[in-house]
Amino acid sequence: MHALAQKRSRSLWQQELAGAFTEVDALLDFLDIGPAARARILADAPSFPLLVPRGLAGLMRRGDPDDPLLRQVLPVRAELDAAAGFGPDPLAEQAACSEGGLLRKYHGRALLVATGACAVHCRYCFRRHFPYAALPARQRLDAALTELAATEDVQELILSGGDPLLLDDDALGDLLARLAAMPRLRRIRVHSRLPVVLPSRVTPALCHLLSTQPQRGALVIHANHPTELGAAAAEALAMLRNAGVTLLNQSVLLRGVNDDVGCLTALSERLFDCGVLPYYLHQLDPVAGAAHFAVSDARARALDQALRARLPGYLTPLLVRELPGAASKLPLS
Ligand SMILES: *Cc1c(COP(=O)(O)O)cnc(C)c1O
Ligand code: SF4
Repeated sequence: MHALAQKRSRSLWQQELAGAFTEVDALLDFLDIGPAARARILADAPSFPLLVPRGLAGLMRRGDPDDPLLRQVLPVRAELDAAAGFGPDPLAEQAACSEGGLLRKYHGRALLVATGACAVHCRYCFRRHFPYAALPARQRLDAALTELAATEDVQELILSGGDPLLLDDDALGDLLARLAAMPRLRRIRVHSRLPVVLPSRVTPALCHLLSTQPQRGALVIHANHPTELGAAAAEALAMLRNAGVTLLNQSVLLRGVNDDVGCLTALSERLFDCGVLPYYLHQLDPVAGAAHFAVSDARARALDQALRARLPGYLTPLLVRELPGAASKLPLS
């Protein structure tokens, strides 16, 4: 009875998250993928388990083990191959990160790891080995905000993670209220994959929270492939835009997923249809377990040129790589 009452009080997006695929076999059964294709799959990946919301799985092609959305989330044996230059902390974040989870690498901006949780586990994630559980959440947040309040030179706070929109409305509202009381902050930027992978998270209540914040807000979504932007994502993005949120996208260039000029063109066009401008196209961060997604710099540059020849400048994302210690993300073109 108690459990039932608790379940009822969960919102729709929380129920959807609780019902996400966590078992490789269940996901492959749902997609009608037969045993022949299962040989290269890593059935148990204990350190970074499978997590795929059902709505996202619903956008994948049935019977296709090479579906570009599936490739982003399916653990494969290639993850176990050691690759030169690929390590657990490719961006040296652990050195730049305070105990409270505040990362300060670039002028005027600070990034807060607001939560370690995500709604999807992307195999290429550069934070797949990040030690999120170092301190209890509440205590960590207090430490980070105290630190932020003491800084003179931060105009923009970036909420990242994990996925910051996995905080529920109460926790997010509390965090935003504490940020609203910091007059030096001019902008709040949220980096989230939820409008794409769990669009039911975008509710009128969330839009209200974002639109009533005194600081200007930007939301950077992470879409890598045009098929990720289905009807539900488009609706969520329209709600956010109507709430006055500036929408940008960043992608990671991924071999076998989006390393194709037609695909990247279609992604930019689909983003614009959804009211989102392309921002960055990232070269893969060399995180251990993701080497099979790498695209060479020469090929990345060629794709970038081809894209620029096809699209208006405002629909061409900036091809960048992040290097530890650099003053900004570095353009490759
Ligand atoms: C990427 C990043 C930013 C934001 O960089 P922009 O170029 O402004 O998008 C800020 N802080 C950290 C720690 C980052 O990794
Ligand atoms: S932090 Fe972003 S890229 Fe990494 S697993 Fe979560 S949603 Fe995916």
